[in-house]
Amino acid sequence: MIPSVLPSYARAPISFERGEGPYLYTADGKRYLDFTAGVAVVSLGHANPRLIKALTEQAHKLWHCSNLFEVEGQKRVAQMLIDHCFADTVFFCNSGAEACEAAIKMARKYQAATGHPEKYRLIACTGSFHGRTLATLAAAGNEKYLAGFGPPLEGFDHVSFGNLNEMRAKVCAETAGVIVEPVQGEGGLATPPSNYLRGLRQLCDEFGLMLVYDEVQSGMGRSGKLFAHQWESGAEPDILATAKGLGGGFPVGACLATEKAAVGMTAGTHGSTFGGNPLAMAVAAEVLSVLSEPGFLDHVDAMGKALRSRLDRLVTDHSEIFEATRGAGLLLGLKCLVPNLDMVAKLRDAGLLAAAAGENVVRLIPPLTIEEPQIDEAYRIADSVAGRWELATR
Ligand SMILES: *Cc1c(COP(=O)(O)O)cnc(C)c1O
Repeated sequence: MIPSVLPSYARAPISFERGEGPYLYTADGKRYLDFTAGVAVVSLGHANPRLIKALTEQAHKLWHCSNLFEVEGQKRVAQMLIDHCFADTVFFCNSGAEACEAAIKMARKYQAATGHPEKYRLIACTGSFHGRTLATLAAAGNEKYLAGFGPPLEGFDHVSFGNLNEMRAKVCAETAGVIVEPVQGEGGLATPPSNYLRGLRQLCDEFGLMLVYDEVQSGMGRSGKLFAHQWESGAEPDILATAKGLGGGFPVGACLATEKAAVGMTAGTHGSTFGGNPLAMAVAAEVLSVLSEPGFLDHVDAMGKALRSRLDRLVTDHSEIFEATRGAGLLLGLKCLVPNLDMVAKLRDAGLLAAAAGENVVRLIPPLTIEEPQIDEAYRIADSVAGRWELATR
């Protein structure tokens, strides 16, 4: 008999009753160190007092009033984003896939609105992930996720990640833009060669293309800057999708754009019932105010380096188990020589929650508020799990 909840996930056989900072607790009181952070969502830790306050204060005033009216919180959050990046304007939605959908539509619409309706194709990278809607699945082009859902939405071409020559060769008369994750999250935490993003910017300028970044996972401080592309100068996009960490656990997404890119997005061209609702905006404003406090992103950068050095040590000390360290900032992982799902299960049994990713990677993505003692705790757990694994296979 089918379970009451659609069985579309391969869930771990465990559930949690509450969380506090980087820890999760089951109903019987067992504690887990959470290096999944709800898949890079719970960026400020579980039950963060500032977010609870922001949410509950708003809950007493107004939950929802729709986009038939002005929503003050949207203006506030939009301005906070604009103050810290390339963008001039922001569309709010509820998830990463919706943010990517808005970005794809906007890139196409820009071309149509500027006299090039024939330009509608986007070039994307293999190994990418942009969400589970029909357009975002087609954008990523992952056969496994597309199988059985009919013909994929037309209009996407694929090249390998990090290769500018291939990207340039793919540009055709119908190309509207390029969509790229500055760090590939679900795909296995691949980082591009330096100057790749700047090269994309130059390529897009040369051919009049929209440069779209999917920073749903790499954004909102996870890399040690607000957005991962900001590590490279001269690499700003025209359009950017973000979500995951933006609400610290409250569902919210955003599509950011320059004034130029948004030229076609006039009244009636796009929308969302729930997008930018006052509860989401109250929490997102608080998340952004924490992220923009002096020293916060420096903390992320420092903790990223600390975690990376522990992961490098694990790779050195357990060369039969781990192959390499992957990722950037606090979006890190271990490429495994043993099956990553088995590793995730063993770590969980030992009290450390991690998330699998493509290319046999185990992702370690703690809250951005993580401190060094918890990084050491995670290291010790992984070290002992790997040590026991080696003994068992000898
Ligand atoms: C998670 C993710 C998405 C999809 O976000 P949802 O909120 O699950 O729709 C899109 N792009 C990237 C890079 C992601 O990591």
